[in-house]
Amino acid sequence: MTMRLYNTLTRQEEPFAPALENTVRMYTCGLTVYARGHIGNFRTFICIDVLRRTLKYLQGHHVRQVMNFTDVDDRTIAGAQKAGMGLREYTEQYIAAFREDARALGLEAVEEMPRATDEANLRAMADVIAALDANGHTYRSEGSVYFKISTMPGYGRLARLDVEGMKPGARVDSDSYAKDDARDFVLWKAAKAGEPAWDLVDPPGRPGWHLECSAMALRLLGPSPIDIHAGGIDLIFPHHENEIAQSEGATGTQFSRFWMHVEYLIVDEQKMSKSLGNTYTIPDVVAKGYRPSAVRYLLLSAHYRKQLNFTWASLGQAEEALRRLTDCLARVGTVTRPGAHPGVTTRVGEARAAFAAAMRDDLNTAAALGAIFELVRAINSAIDAGEIGTADVPGITAAFDEFDLVLGVLSLRRAEDEQPPVPVAEIERLIEDRRGARRRREFAAADRIRDDLAVRGVLLEDSPAGTHWKKK
Ligand code: AMP
Ligand code: ZN
Repeated sequence: MTMRLYNTLTRQEEPFAPALENTVRMYTCGLTVYARGHIGNFRTFICIDVLRRTLKYLQGHHVRQVMNFTDVDDRTIAGAQKAGMGLREYTEQYIAAFREDARALGLEAVEEMPRATDEANLRAMADVIAALDANGHTYRSEGSVYFKISTMPGYGRLARLDVEGMKPGARVDSDSYAKDDARDFVLWKAAKAGEPAWDLVDPPGRPGWHLECSAMALRLLGPSPIDIHAGGIDLIFPHHENEIAQSEGATGTQFSRFWMHVEYLIVDEQKMSKSLGNTYTIPDVVAKGYRPSAVRYLLLSAHYRKQLNFTWASLGQAEEALRRLTDCLARVGTVTRPGAHPGVTTRVGEARAAFAAAMRDDLNTAAALGAIFELVRAINSAIDAGEIGTADVPGITAAFDEFDLVLGVLSLRRAEDEQPPVPVAEIERLIEDRRGARRRREFAAADRIRDDLAVRGVLLEDSPAGTHWKKK
């Protein structure tokens, strides 16, 4: 059965299938690596991860997904300058943090995670500019290369801009700006003292943010049109509008068939964003005693095209809901009465159908979770009434495994449960410290290390072969 996906380009839900064979070619605008990503950023990435999983596990497509790191733009350059670090070295720390958080939140590894400053990508950007030059879409001014929007009749279609009122010939240099500031935008910025510059384009300089994504998408996913281009809703203008102008101006063919945009995670009616200072990162949430699986659950509890208001109370409710799920599965594991009950089989079948229908309906995760909880209630009642048998269990666990391939919450919670309560590197360091203390005959200090670890849930066991640890 095909799924329906809302396409920002047409402002409509449309049936979705990949254009070429059975492989979905999807580009995701990734993190601008000038800060650790916050849970607002991760709302977008998690919703796109669920789209990826739905396409793979429910729809049976292959997926080739690219998610970039924006590692050269106005913000990363300003950040590196302030920190007194080289750009690659500065952005590397946030790329590492992103990978850590993505793993903690159960994001599936995508096929490609290019950095804009990788040599091959910079070359691809120069190629896009050369094609735009050849097609008459560019001009140069004060050492920068600009895209002349009056040469693209379709400019403004994605963002539904009123192009009539636009000032011809006016230019804008910054990477982001508002809709009413729509003008000729910069493709390649003039080299400036203290900024990185490349001589792949004449004159030498550095890429504008929009150019980076066009070049990486075309290089790694082409030929265009690609199937889906996705990101947060704030990217519609100017970023995605400009990506379309550049890519279509260079290739003469449609850039992406579908545009998918995720609504904001908000706090007190405002977008969660670094500039407003209202952000929380995964380490912030963990420091408050919550687990990443609860964050993932919370971020999936609303439809991706609706705003979601973040509160600590809502994170607490997500944790409770997740526990109701895991408690139900634990109870199912205790069923010992033999036999099967057709009532259970029917309920499982209904839940599977309702779940699949909800996900195929423009990724309605809220309705999909509703279907799961209806099944949880039915199973709990069946257990209470003794109307469930061991032969019912495999069907139930298979259904939950099927749900979780798409949502990725239960498997994440299981992985968290299996993790030692203290990071392995820290345990190993403390074992080493304790050995040193014993060697110096500081037995009280050595015992303190062992006792502290025991309080934190890790037991040390000494044997002639050395010290081993295990979970309490
Ligand atoms: P950036 O690092 O600013 O380029 O953002 C990375 C991704 O996070 C983009 O797709 C943004 O649209 C998305 N994003 C940023 N803030 C939020 C938010 N509060 N809620 C949802 N998505 C967001
Ligand atoms: Zn992008």
